[in-house]
Amino acid sequence: MSVEQEIAGNLSAVRENIAAAAMRAGSPADLVTLVAISKSQPDERIAAALAAGQLVFGENRVQEAQTHWSERRDTTAGLELHLVGPLQTNKVKEAVALFDVIQTVDRPKLAEHLARAFDGLGKARRCFVQVNTGEEAQKAGVSPAEADGFIAACRGLELPVEGLMCIPPADAPVAPHFALLRKIAERNGLAALSMGMSADYAVAAELGATYVRVGRGIFGERAPRV
Ligand SMILES: *Cc1c(COP(=O)(O)O)cnc(C)c1O
Repeated sequence: MSVEQEIAGNLSAVRENIAAAAMRAGSPADLVTLVAISKSQPDERIAAALAAGQLVFGENRVQEAQTHWSERRDTTAGLELHLVGPLQTNKVKEAVALFDVIQTVDRPKLAEHLARAFDGLGKARRCFVQVNTGEEAQKAGVSPAEADGFIAACRGLELPVEGLMCIPPADAPVAPHFALLRKIAERNGLAALSMGMSADYAVAAELGATYVRVGRGIFGERAPRV
């Protein structure tokens, strides 16, 4: 099987699983956007996903994303790039130049830098607030208790906050985390929910995800980082 066939097959399997999950939840399948996470992937696998019609991609590092996407950004109509990894304030300018969506707004200082960068760019980028639903010390995101206040602060800075994003703890059932994220979104009037990865995107889609972030399920295992 060629790389093109392999990735096209994976993509359609993932899309079918999402559609089935949405159906179980009684919601339209096109409510869920599949974000293909292309971090650590060789170029030919990214090209194969594009050839199979995938246009929404996510990356977790600004520099690697530039390598993958800077040129393609100008040549690929309809491309939409999401930043799903932590953003350092000294990379904000580069990030807003490249990405359409920043999913990892997680602290006041970053929110302030983003607001300034949007002013500089003359254009805002869509934002998600990352919530650390498991309150894990090593994980980014605002705690659930701080979320309402932080969302309000982001709105005060005129960041276009569309929704919330979470990465649940690795070794716990995910459903309570997805439900918590949804509850925080609902009480703040936010429609978008980015939750679910390769292992659990179908659960997430069933629990109201509007964006699922799938890497290995589309591209196969990642090469280890050097
Ligand atoms: C890597 C990554 C994903 C994709 O993980 P897979 O298990 O490969 O699907 C999703 N979200 C974030 C934030 C990631 O860093």
